[in-house]
Amino acid sequence: MTFNWSEVKHFSESEFRPKNYSGELDMSLGFVLKLDLFRSQVGSPMHVHNNGGYAVSGHSENSLHYDGLAADLHITEAVGPRDVIEQALLAYKWTFLSIGIYPYWNRPGLHLDDRSAIGKEKVVWFRDDLGKYHYYSYNRFYQCLRDLILYMESDSKMSKDV
Ligand SMILES: [Zn+2]
Repeated sequence: MTFNWSEVKHFSESEFRPKNYSGELDMSLGFVLKLDLFRSQVGSPMHVHNNGGYAVSGHSENSLHYDGLAADLHITEAVGPRDVIEQALLAYKWTFLSIGIYPYWNRPGLHLDDRSAIGKEKVVWFRDDLGKYHYYSYNRFYQCLRDLILYMESDSKMSKDV
């Protein structure tokens, strides 16, 4: 499929290009248009992280980033980054993408990917403070959020007790 970035309202090609990579940028147009629509609906800026669009290295094996079907980003509002729980709720409301929630990134945000475009089951997950992944089927999104909130509450209690 030919990718015409002029069809994309809110994102530019450079945001999806790895640093120092001048090869072909094999992003899925369908996926980027879904992100673009999400961006329009939410109405606040989204920042794709370094190496968080199309990637040739630096992600887990079989990562959807290598297929141009994933983005790592965070959503801001006028006063600064949005709470990561709110970001996840927005993504769940407005996209039908798989959602990874990363509260412990330097800039807490989301991994969004279109794995169903290649026949894989949609999932949601969060990565905890120790780097462990907690996966849920897509229809258990709210269970995932609940567990994450409980995890973050106990996590902050633990660090305060020290
Ligand atoms: Zn990612």
